[in-house]
Amino acid sequence: MVEQERVAEVRNETLDESTNLLKSTQIVIKEALDKLGYHQSMFELLKEPIRFLTVRIPVRMDDNSVKIFTGYRAQHNDAVGPTKGGIRFHPDVTEDEVKALSIWMSLKSGIVDLPYGGGKGGIICDPREMSFRELERLSRGYVRAISQIVGPTKDIPAPDVFTNSQIMAWMMDEYSSIKEHDSPGFITGKPLVLGGSHGRESATAKGVTICIREAAKWRGINLEGARVIVQGFGNAGSFLSKFMHDAGAKVVAISDVYGALYDPNGLDIDDLLERRDSFGTVTKQFTNTLTNKEMLELDCDVLVPAAIENQITKENAHRIQAEIIVEAANGPTTLEATKILTERGKLIVPDVLASAGGVTVSYFEWVQNNQGYYWSIEEVEEKLEQVMVKSFNNVYQTAQTRQVDMRLAAYMVGVRKMAEACRFRGWV
Ligand code: GLU
Repeated sequence: MVEQERVAEVRNETLDESTNLLKSTQIVIKEALDKLGYHQSMFELLKEPIRFLTVRIPVRMDDNSVKIFTGYRAQHNDAVGPTKGGIRFHPDVTEDEVKALSIWMSLKSGIVDLPYGGGKGGIICDPREMSFRELERLSRGYVRAISQIVGPTKDIPAPDVFTNSQIMAWMMDEYSSIKEHDSPGFITGKPLVLGGSHGRESATAKGVTICIREAAKWRGINLEGARVIVQGFGNAGSFLSKFMHDAGAKVVAISDVYGALYDPNGLDIDDLLERRDSFGTVTKQFTNTLTNKEMLELDCDVLVPAAIENQITKENAHRIQAEIIVEAANGPTTLEATKILTERGKLIVPDVLASAGGVTVSYFEWVQNNQGYYWSIEEVEEKLEQVMVKSFNNVYQTAQTRQVDMRLAAYMVGVRKMAEACRFRGWV
C-alpha cells in the first residue's frame, strides 16, 4: 500500500472512531470504569448490550403491496432492573446506533438513579412518507416481533425520534392482546386516557430547562434576556423554546431539518409553534433562512442541540460561540469536539444528563401504572425538579472534584450503580 493510501485509511478510521456513536461511547465508558477502578472484565461486559434482537416486519401497505421493514431492540444491561428506553422510527437507524443509544439509556438511568438498565429500539423507515394506517400496522408488527423479550418487568419501551403517544397506544394495545390482559406498564409515553402521565410529553424539555438554569447559575449568566439557540423543533426543541421564551430568555434562532430562522431580537416562538407540523417542520414557510451549520456558529449564550447526532465536530467546534452547550439530543457532540470546547472553557452539559427528564417521567408513569393511582401535574413536576437538580449537582460536583469534563463525570456517575449491581450479582 502506498503511503498516501495508508494515511487516507488511517484518517478514515479516525473519522469513523469519532463519529461512530458506539465506538465513542465505549471509549468514555472505558475511561469512566478505569477512573472508578474497575477491572477490564467489567468493561468487557458493559461495552455492548447483553441482548440484541433484529426483526423483519412484513407490513401490508395501502396500495396492497407488502413491504418488509427491519427493526431492532437492544437491551444493554439488566443488573439494576428491567431495561428501559425509546423506539425510533427513522430511515438512518443502524445496529450500532441502537446499541449506543441503549448504553446511553443505562447511563441516564444511573445518573437520575432509576431502578432500570438501558434499552433502545429502532425501525428503519420514514414515517413522513407513511400513512396513519401503515404506521399502525408497522407499530403492531414490531410489537408482535419483539413481544417475547419485552414486558413491564423485562424491558419497557417509550417514544423517541418520530414516535409519539399514538404509536405507544397502538403498541400497548397490541401487547395487551398478545398477553390477554391490560398491560399499561408495558410502555410509557402513552396518551393520558390510556394510563399516560401528566407532564410526560414536555418532560425532556423540562429537564433540559432545569439543566440550563443550573448551568447558567454556575456561569453567572442571567436567563432573563439570555440569547438561546435551539437546533431542532421536534418534541424536545419546540417545548424547550417555549419554556425558554416563557422564562424571559430570547430564543434568537431555531431550526428544523430544512434550515434555520434567526432574529437577534428574539423569534416569535408562539407563532412558530402554531405553524410547525408533527415532525417539527416550520422553516419551509420562510424564504429568509440559514443553514443548520451556520446557525450553530451564531453568537449566543446558550446553545441547545436538540436534533440529531454528530452536529458539533472538530470542524466547527472552534467556531462555536455559546458559553454553555446543553445537549438535548442524543450524541450531538463528538469526543474531539468535546475536547476542543472544554479547552476553550465552554461548559457542556452532556446528553446523558440533560435529556434524562424524559425517562424520569417515564419512570413516574410506570410507577403510576403499577400502583394504579395517578398523580397531578404538580406532583410530577415537583418530583422531576428534585431529581434533575440533584443529578445536575452530582455530576457537576464530580466533574469539579475529579477534574474531568462533565461528560466523563456523567459517565462515571451513570455507570457506577450498574457496575455495582453486576458485582453484587456475582456477574463480574
Ligand atoms: N427516548 C427517550 C430517551 O432517549 C425516553 C426514553 C424513555 O422514556 O424510556 O431518553
